[in-house]
Amino acid sequence: MRPNAYLQTLNNNLMKYYSTNHSVPEVSLSEAVVKGLAADRGLFMPERIEKLPKEFFDNIEKLNLHDIAVRVAEAFFGEDVEPEALEKIVRDTLSFDTPVVEVEKDIYSLELFHGPTLAFKDVGARFMARLLQYFINKGSDGRTVNVLVATSGDTGSAVANGFLGVEGIHVYVLYPKGKVSPIQECQFTTLGKNITAIEVDGNFDDCQRLVKSAFLDVELNSRMLLTSANSINVARFLPQAFYYFSGYAQLKAKGRGEEIVVCVPSGNFGNITAGLIAHRMGLPIKRFIAANNANDIFYNYLQTGEYCPKASVQTLANAMDVGDPSNFARVLDLYAGKHEVIASLISGTTISDAEIAETMKRCYEQTGYVLDPHGACGYLALKRQLKEGETGLFLETAHPAKFLETVTDIIGKEIEIPERLQEFMNGKKQSVAMTSDFADLKSYLLQLS
Ligand SMILES: *Cc1c(COP(=O)(O)O)cnc(C)c1O
Repeated sequence: MRPNAYLQTLNNNLMKYYSTNHSVPEVSLSEAVVKGLAADRGLFMPERIEKLPKEFFDNIEKLNLHDIAVRVAEAFFGEDVEPEALEKIVRDTLSFDTPVVEVEKDIYSLELFHGPTLAFKDVGARFMARLLQYFINKGSDGRTVNVLVATSGDTGSAVANGFLGVEGIHVYVLYPKGKVSPIQECQFTTLGKNITAIEVDGNFDDCQRLVKSAFLDVELNSRMLLTSANSINVARFLPQAFYYFSGYAQLKAKGRGEEIVVCVPSGNFGNITAGLIAHRMGLPIKRFIAANNANDIFYNYLQTGEYCPKASVQTLANAMDVGDPSNFARVLDLYAGKHEVIASLISGTTISDAEIAETMKRCYEQTGYVLDPHGACGYLALKRQLKEGETGLFLETAHPAKFLETVTDIIGKEIEIPERLQEFMNGKKQSVAMTSDFADLKSYLLQLS
């Protein structure tokens, strides 16, 4: 029997998802979520992006984050998920706020770090976990769904915490031994329950190779139901649109709803693509800035029209160290590959480590606001490019305490560690030691099935 057969029982009236490579048939939402990547290696995109009505935007400042997010979620998932179930998924996902905070005149921070692992990835990971659980419950044949994820740090914590305690799902986080920070490690090794941390004697590429081999292994897939939770999954990517609407609503409530420039510290470009989708749905954003660190592939594309991926370089804003951003395919797809359209809506900039450090220090001294290294890229990009009469909103993608030593060194002051982060650090580390040989991972997984 095909392990995923029960997920393919949905009928034909639902939203379809096509591949950005256009060489395989469209699939249903449940299939796109379980598969992650299309069979032709393209990324899934929704066939329709609904424009929201004028009344919604006219009154948006009176709505709270949940009401806004439910309305946006209906536009994507309303045909596939019953209203009450969808509303519950959205409310459970957003168990925390996404406040807009004024940093200085004309510059605001959209703080996306108030979730359990203190980074914006909590939104997508929590949503995906709940949506997957919904599909499992619908078509249940009682089998556990096993989520395998390789991490260099941040993804593992967001996915593990997003799926923690979700029935019917077991998560295996593969991480490179000795190569993630202690704070990151404790966010997925101390959880227990349905989360197993696998400490691989190797590097991140080994972890990724092991996960890929597992998905390709016929015997393993016939014995257990395997899926991935990486960031290109539509269920992680689309919900990120929620907070762009909320950010706009909060600015509008402050009387700053015009001429808004949104700046996104970008790595794989999933976050900014969700913003571009919000824009397509009618959200009145004047233009976007994609802030790059030294990994300047997108910046170069904007200047030249040529996309030239290269090996990533390590920076202070390490979650943005990406040399071949996977969601670039989605950006191209949204604008039919037209460089001039993309470059008129999005501007770019590239920021060195020295500039990141100087920006964090100067912003703290002049405004009292503590930036993390990623948010610092967003803030500096706005300082460089914001014009008279515009309102700048940058996405503060992680809490500065996640980069404790870097931040403390740069601003010269101890920062407060949020309680939920401290709690992880007090937990007991539990992990399974693994070699980087696939045969070992396979026999480990098989003896569990
Ligand atoms: C993942 C991440 C980014 C980059 O987001 P993309 O969607 O990959 O562009 C930026 N900042 C932080 C803190 C992150 O964890």
